[in-house]
Amino acid sequence: MSQDSTPTGEARHLWREIDRSEPPKRAAAERITDFHEIYSLLDEATVREQASRCVQCAEPACVAGCPLGNRIPEWLGLAAEGKFLEAAEISRTTSNMPEICPRVCPQERLCEGACVVHDQGSICIGAIEKFINEFALALGVVPAIIPTPNGKRVAVVGSGPGGLACADELCKLGYGVTIFESQLLPGGLLLFGIPAFKLEKEVVERRVDILKQQGVEFKVGVTVGEDIGLNDLLAGHDAVFLGIGALKSKALDVPGADLNGVYQGLPFLAQKNAPISLGLPPVEVKGKRVVVLGGGDSAMDCLRTAIRCGAADTVCAYRRDLANMPGSRKEYANALEEGARFMFLTNPIALDGNAEGEVTAVRCVRMELGEPDASGRRKPQPVKGSEFTLPADLILIAYGFDPVPFPSESDLSRVAVNKWGGTETDANQMTSVPGVFAGGDVVRGPSLVVHAVLDGRKAAAGIHRYLSAYATTKLPASVTLEQGQSVACITGDAPADVKTYANIQ
Ligand code: SF4
Repeated sequence: MSQDSTPTGEARHLWREIDRSEPPKRAAAERITDFHEIYSLLDEATVREQASRCVQCAEPACVAGCPLGNRIPEWLGLAAEGKFLEAAEISRTTSNMPEICPRVCPQERLCEGACVVHDQGSICIGAIEKFINEFALALGVVPAIIPTPNGKRVAVVGSGPGGLACADELCKLGYGVTIFESQLLPGGLLLFGIPAFKLEKEVVERRVDILKQQGVEFKVGVTVGEDIGLNDLLAGHDAVFLGIGALKSKALDVPGADLNGVYQGLPFLAQKNAPISLGLPPVEVKGKRVVVLGGGDSAMDCLRTAIRCGAADTVCAYRRDLANMPGSRKEYANALEEGARFMFLTNPIALDGNAEGEVTAVRCVRMELGEPDASGRRKPQPVKGSEFTLPADLILIAYGFDPVPFPSESDLSRVAVNKWGGTETDANQMTSVPGVFAGGDVVRGPSLVVHAVLDGRKAAAGIHRYLSAYATTKLPASVTLEQGQSVACITGDAPADVKTYANIQ
């Protein structure tokens, strides 16, 4: 790659003259034969042209649409002038993985969905963000920031996007950071959950390497709550961040759910996508009729992974319609192109099996949408007399995830959770245990990578405030806050109704 430094400052606001371009995508027939990423980079001329479509709004809706508040118009303006390195530098100020988020964000619901020229074809923000950062990484100009150590240590539990973002932010502030990861490789969900056709493993490993160069220490194969306790971490560190995700799969609650051939989607994805053996029982889909239950991004990933593993037929059964399906439209379109079939407004009511106890079919009922529920989405209701049978050799359940409950015998159980099992945090991401912070799916339930990055950044800022305020009076590890309590060490911005540290002593 080269960098053209010739500015073309007049090349702006060209959305009327230039149509939106998409990044090159490999043909479906080719890409289903491997697990490599399906999109390649835009070329430099196209990046400049596409960036020049930006209106440079005074109050950019795309920035509001990006959970990280990325400074999108600024880097689009620089990219339009061919100043790719400067553009990448700005994009790094608000994102800890600006080469990863654009690969996995559902842009149509975030930055690009908010773009003011959406109806004429949004600026291709994600493809440009990916390009400028790959450009900088290819030239080796993404510096590992190594600040002066401040003498304090933080333990980060989990090396998914929240943990990596938190570690990166703390490291830049001079904290000594150790990441504890239960798997034998760092990366968490990025490595084991997201298929390589969306995010190549090397991209994750490269980001982990940058953190290692910054001095972040990784302890892999260590499960906090089993191999080491929360109190041990607090004794050896000034603060702890929990970024352990939500890995408990929601169950399929219909007769026949215990038949052979019925699997949860996440272990299937992990087994087929992990770069190392996870010791999971093998799931063989080759030549089989696979039915995926659910309509989120995990369901899309299951369909597309099953296709690449040689399934004879892949059908997604989802109880709502396409308009109400939570999965990314981009990934839905890709799944369709690759041969997946979709049955909307279809709900399983039972699984049938043969004498050997193997699943043979899904008994389904047609659904219709009724009144909106609490979430505002119209509630699906069964249509009387519409039952039908869908033949199947293998079922993958992709109904979403909950946080894994903290084991009662573990000191992690000191951390308060809400009725859905999500870890409770205050506005600074601190949990009920002083000095213990949390973010990402363990707090929110299953959500986007970009949300985990946001939480990791917020938690790092909260940890910094906490440790700055109580540099010499760290709270004892034994102190546990009651529900609704927080700590006044969060300088200035703690909610008015919280009890102060002084009050709870
Ligand atoms: Fe868009 Fe995601 Fe990048 Fe934000 S992080 S600008 S939402 S692609």
